[in-house]
Amino acid sequence: MKMKLAEIAKAIAVKNDITKWQDVEITSVAFDSRNLAAGALFIPLMGQSDGHRFANAAFENGAAATLWATDHEVTTTTDQPVLIVDDPLQSLQELGKYYLHKINPMVVAVTGSNGKTTTKDMIASILSTQMNVTKTYANFNNQIGVPMTLLSMEPNTEAVVVEMGMDHFGELDFLSRMVNPDVAVITMIGEAHIEFFGTRDKIADAKMEITHGLKEDGTLVFNGDEPLLIERTASLAQQQLKFGRQLENDLYATSVNAATHEITFTVNQWPEEDFTIPMMGEYNVNNALAALTVGQLLHVSVGNMRQALANVELTENRAQWIQGTAGEQILSDVYNSNPTAAKQVLHAFAQTPTTGHRIVVLGDMLELGDASPRLHASLADEFDAAAISDVYLIGPQMKVLYERLIEAYGTEHLHHYDVENKQQLMNDLEKQIQPTDVVMLKASHGIHLETVLQNLAD
Ligand code: ATP
Ligand code: MG
Repeated sequence: MKMKLAEIAKAIAVKNDITKWQDVEITSVAFDSRNLAAGALFIPLMGQSDGHRFANAAFENGAAATLWATDHEVTTTTDQPVLIVDDPLQSLQELGKYYLHKINPMVVAVTGSNGKTTTKDMIASILSTQMNVTKTYANFNNQIGVPMTLLSMEPNTEAVVVEMGMDHFGELDFLSRMVNPDVAVITMIGEAHIEFFGTRDKIADAKMEITHGLKEDGTLVFNGDEPLLIERTASLAQQQLKFGRQLENDLYATSVNAATHEITFTVNQWPEEDFTIPMMGEYNVNNALAALTVGQLLHVSVGNMRQALANVELTENRAQWIQGTAGEQILSDVYNSNPTAAKQVLHAFAQTPTTGHRIVVLGDMLELGDASPRLHASLADEFDAAAISDVYLIGPQMKVLYERLIEAYGTEHLHHYDVENKQQLMNDLEKQIQPTDVVMLKASHGIHLETVLQNLAD
């Protein structure tokens, strides 16, 4: 981006007179003083610490100006521009919205309990074959990340693909009204954040908020296999397109062939074509169907869509195969876990071809509230000792799953550890692993299974 302070001051109702700085040019926006480009506008946010304390550091690192909250005494030690506003976070959001209107691209907003980032990456890959696209960087999907995404657009951006996350009511309402999507996508309804919501019905209600800012001539693209969404979309005025596995959907997969590192499938709309995605986990077919629905809606040719899916660049830290030091193959998914996702990854992993053993390391799934014991226990259905030979569980919640599996596995092939005993888990695992084995790691990020991954793969 490129904007003079005069323009910014107008867009966000700055309280002080900035005339002497009006021609200062801003080329990016940043809230981390350690990580900003020269010419950035620094946004002091109130996080664990007060961002205003880092404004001087931001200037030292090249910031061209900073916002400043009215209720804070100005303590900058340079005479560089300070723009006084009521609330810097709100100003960031207003500026994002202003810049979006100025660039005026097609807006695609993506939400859902799981698969947001993957689907966002797939949509961006598909649209990039025919237009200039900006997408959410990494997982920047909240009230800070969404305006940051908007402000990261190059002036020639023709489409922006925005991931939107939420864990409370009202968040998607806010984000949707900020960006006014042309296309809104709901990947699926799962059980993430059920601790707060209580029921899947309420999660579905909250996800539907993504339609609150949907343009009148916009389109909702959603998972048509989910009855909770079918019910809730019946009265929606905007156009709707459904994807999924059932035949009632506008787009559905007619055949699916899942191999270890890729999945091939066919789609009802293009019976002659084979599509390939370079990833495992059959749930990714649904993510691809969502992306194909958006691509078709925006008139991307099927040839371009095939190419784009086959070469999709995924955001890091999602389920990925890594070679371990002993030669074993590791399926690492250590940044995110919840019952729906864990079941699907286990299901896919149990079918991974190997001449060695399949070994699973599973850590607690957090934020599940009262339903937690039941949901942890429910993973037992995915374990078949003939397919998965050894199970290492870690975290207090996994004790329930341990009890459920002990009869089938016995103490030799089933282990449980407290989080403090991760080192013991790593020692035991290292002793067991053979070069021909496949190992799966999955837990909520709070369990920090990446330590185990580093131990196996570095
Ligand atoms: P976050 O809430 O962390 O932003 P996300 O919604 O962006 O997550 P992804 O990063 O795309 O989701 O995928 C995270 C994990 O969710 C995957 O590794 C996989 O285990 C699971 N997952 C992805 N897509 C689906 C899907 N369509 N259905 C069920 N599970 C899925
Ligand atoms: Mg994400």
